[in-house]
Amino acid sequence: LIAMEGVGKWYGAYHALKNVNISVAKGEKIVLCGPSGSGKSTLIRCINHLEEIQEGKITVEGTVLTDSTGAVDAVRREVGMVFQSFNLFPHMTILENCTLAPMRVKKVSKSEAEATARKYLERVRIVDQADKYPAQLSGGQQQRAAIARALCMEPKAMLFDEPTSALDPEMVKEVLDTMIGLARDGMTMICVTHEMGFARQVADRVVFMASGEIIEEGPPEEFFRNPQHQRTRAFLGEIL
Ligand code: ATP
Ligand code: MG
Repeated sequence: LIAMEGVGKWYGAYHALKNVNISVAKGEKIVLCGPSGSGKSTLIRCINHLEEIQEGKITVEGTVLTDSTGAVDAVRREVGMVFQSFNLFPHMTILENCTLAPMRVKKVSKSEAEATARKYLERVRIVDQADKYPAQLSGGQQQRAAIARALCMEPKAMLFDEPTSALDPEMVKEVLDTMIGLARDGMTMICVTHEMGFARQVADRVVFMASGEIIEEGPPEEFFRNPQHQRTRAFLGEIL
């Protein structure tokens, strides 16, 4: 579903991604971890072309991601993204946040978009908050609204960039539970997170990055029990 082949990314002279190769099959759940500045956000932002790459190739559902707006729009329709800082539109209600992109991009009618929005708000258990503004919700509710908003585009895959790291501890679980539910329903996911309990529970593979490179990857049992590289062991030693 998603493939990166020999991807290189520079910010000016800074080499942020070095020969990254990764492929994600339909239904697969990947947890991406690594130290701060290792390129995790850069990697997932490249997948929906929030960042341009200078080397290699990214394919999403058979579409090669080039600079053409057609390819970028196609990929953004297929791949939903959830950020650390929710990124809801503050001047719109939760329902309006959820209906905007389907109406604008997929040209669905307002009534259809609202029906879809209520379905997904129900699924993340905040349908009773639909007519409120983001500032009137807790952080955990806002993040679940952001997940519902992404789901309203009915994406084939979801990218999460540290979705729980801006939340108070008591709200982390409700967001992780929502993500676990999505995973159980078969969603293809790439999650940047340091929630290693989540990784053990849902990941098919854990991928470890450092200095812009994928250092090692493996199924969670092996990855945690027997990390191969010194840098992985050092990282796990710090966070576990
Ligand atoms: P964190 O865990 O802190 O979120 P990360 O693994 O997500 O880190 P990235 O945000 O991908 O790391 O950043 C990788 C490197 O690229 C860092 O050294 C960062 O300073 C640099 N970088 C990121 N975005 C930009 C940018 N827009 N311009 C220049 N350098 C950038
Ligand atoms: Mg990051």
